[in-house]
Amino acid sequence: MTSFSDFALLAPLQKALAAEGYTKPTPIQSQAIPHALAGKDLLGIAQTGTGKTAAFALPILHTLGKSGVTCKPRSCRALILSPTRELASQIADSFRAYGKFMHLSIDVVFGGVPVGKQIKRLSTGADILVATPGRLLDLIDQKALTLKDLEILVLDEADQMLDLGFIVPLKRIIPMLPKQRQSLFFSATMPKTISGLADQFLKDPVKVSVTPVATTAERVTQGVMFVPVSAKQNLLHAVLLDPAIERVLVFTRTKHGADKVVKHLVNARIQAMAIHGNKSQAQREKALAAFKEGACRVLVATDIAARGIDVDGVTHVINFELPNVSEAYVHRIGRTARAGASGIAMSFCSNEERPFLRDIEKLTRLPVPVLALPEGFVMTAPPPRLPASEQNRNDGNRGHHAPGRSGERQGERNGQPQRNRRRRSGGGGQGRSSGQFAA
Ligand code: AMP
Repeated sequence: MTSFSDFALLAPLQKALAAEGYTKPTPIQSQAIPHALAGKDLLGIAQTGTGKTAAFALPILHTLGKSGVTCKPRSCRALILSPTRELASQIADSFRAYGKFMHLSIDVVFGGVPVGKQIKRLSTGADILVATPGRLLDLIDQKALTLKDLEILVLDEADQMLDLGFIVPLKRIIPMLPKQRQSLFFSATMPKTISGLADQFLKDPVKVSVTPVATTAERVTQGVMFVPVSAKQNLLHAVLLDPAIERVLVFTRTKHGADKVVKHLVNARIQAMAIHGNKSQAQREKALAAFKEGACRVLVATDIAARGIDVDGVTHVINFELPNVSEAYVHRIGRTARAGASGIAMSFCSNEERPFLRDIEKLTRLPVPVLALPEGFVMTAPPPRLPASEQNRNDGNRGHHAPGRSGERQGERNGQPQRNRRRRSGGGGQGRSSGQFAA
């Protein structure tokens, strides 16, 4: 399947796709859309960034638009369950963009905001409703919504749903669903717990799978700098002096950590905002909007808050702290490789985080090249002592500068061609010895 016209989507959808500038379906879209249009249940293994939202949104819009049925009060025809508010908002935005030449009503409901307005809006029903599970159940309990007229259900980012403890709400929702329905189920990973959950939602599903974890990682130019925790703030400051870093997502493990990083950057007159679970919805939206518009160059996020953030043109991802769950690393770096683009990810790794780095390399089946510290950066704290087994590795990679967006190919490593692995041109590949561990 090479063109959207092969799907025979309704004309307003084709017009919207042209307006979005989509010329070719992504692999998940090519695989999923024909089955979804045929009314089949679907089990999709795909990560954010693969175009999976359109893979379910386009067939839903087509199917609902074609049937001509209208939604009943306090009811919805398609329901998309999302683990986070950010992802829910973005899914709704995608539906609005793809459905902008149609007359279907699209609504989104999530917790953390007053329920009253949501109840009022739902009184007339919604053709398409995007919801987080907790708020959905609240609305059902308050009789503001019923699922009895549901035609299509989507469960998005199922693995994240379980990570966030949504298993109980999901199990409560299952018996409320009409037996006659189409269900589409997406998850980035498919461990036994997820496939067990999928079995409860799906009937004889078609399985589609794209982008194994390693493939996302391959599209991103990765690098790691070894640095003690105490020097990370200064290192971040030094790294951000590079103007090639136009729009950067910085990841911390904790909300408190995110706030600390922002404070430090703002003190250093670098525009930065944080997005995490302790921020109000309005604060999160403000930060995200500033980041999208380019008014804020650095967005500091925790894993959960960043889930689903869909901002084009993120030039870099910086892992200020490495995640202790390796899948989260792949989700993080995927933010800079949206829809086939390549991106750059740098990680600051302390001695304590080395086991996390090893897990990440095991998962992605890719070694993360060691980068020299930025020119002029002097570490105030002594560098962490490397175990003997790691010495060679650092020596072997000495002199690789932080990767930039332009520059020559890095060449071959271990005899293997390194696709998409670039470094900044110039500089001769030598960092200052005072800042280099291997020196
Ligand atoms: P998703 O995985 O759904 O979060 O989509 C990731 C990004 O890819 C979003 O910015 C979409 O707008 C974009 N996208 C989705 N499908 C296509 C396509 N066929 N062509 C170009 N961009 C796309």
